Amino acid sequence: MAKHWSVDPTEALRADGIQIAELDTSATPGFKGKKKAGQSLLAERTQVLSDLQEKLYASGRSGDSRSVLLVLQGMDTAGKGGIVRHVIGSVDPQGVDHAAFGVPTRAEKRHDFLWRIRKRLPEGGQIGVFDRSHYEDVLVARVHELVPESVWRPRYTEINAFERELVDSGITLVKVALFVSLDEQRRRLLERLNRPDKYWKFKPADIDERAYWPDYTEAYQAVVDRTSTKGAPWYVVPADHKWYARLAVTELLIDALEQLQLDWPPADFDIKEQKRRLRDE
Ligand code: AMP
Ligand code: MG
Repeated sequence: MAKHWSVDPTEALRADGIQIAELDTSATPGFKGKKKAGQSLLAERTQVLSDLQEKLYASGRSGDSRSVLLVLQGMDTAGKGGIVRHVIGSVDPQGVDHAAFGVPTRAEKRHDFLWRIRKRLPEGGQIGVFDRSHYEDVLVARVHELVPESVWRPRYTEINAFERELVDSGITLVKVALFVSLDEQRRRLLERLNRPDKYWKFKPADIDERAYWPDYTEAYQAVVDRTSTKGAPWYVVPADHKWYARLAVTELLIDALEQLQLDWPPADFDIKEQKRRLRDE
């Protein structure tokens, strides 16, 4: 059990059986404390995360081919960027491989939807972060019929096969879907319009997308129903409270890294001999 949680986050946030349309996005599943307690725990836990990440990186340098891949999905303003800055930002950048997936380029459109994803998979020892992912091809692509149903429908099965392949190759997947309410999104969009330092995040089309909220809810429901597997489960994170979402993702990453049972790589030199050399120099 993670410290200060009444239900372990891996249990409390597991997508199994969840009805996204009924999700309380202001809830803090499994965590009893309020904002202050959450924030102080977060400071403590990011240190734990950072230590584990260093072990993963050190193992990678010594030939361990395993890695962790955080897949972040969520509507605009759900807080994906904040997770990257505040959670991933707390670990050593040389061990992080960050990839954001936007509207496919012309080159990307000429290939299968997984082509651009495969190119950005993390190497051994890295924490990969996908800010959006292959799931856009069953979310925005489905909602806006960017491709016919005969194309997007089989993708759930393709994604499961793809992810099984990743897991078998030593990539631990941590799939997180962040959800805010329609009201909270309105507040956050308005904030982007009220603050010059946030204009860059705003696109007028973000407001158009709000009309498709029920369609996105349905598409997200299909994602968790069809692609939450034993090897690569989905976690559904209520994200109206930023401190909670950040703490939750930190815990999920800590859990994934702990499962790897990492150790510091042993010396591949004779320690006594090297000490002697320094002494006798
Ligand atoms: P942002 O994450 O705010 O920079 O926006 C990226 C945009 O790219 C979002 O509107 C996504 O829906 C869009 N996008 C990402 N992947 C795809 C995809 N495979 N097909 C179409 N649009 C995509
Ligand atoms: Mg955006």
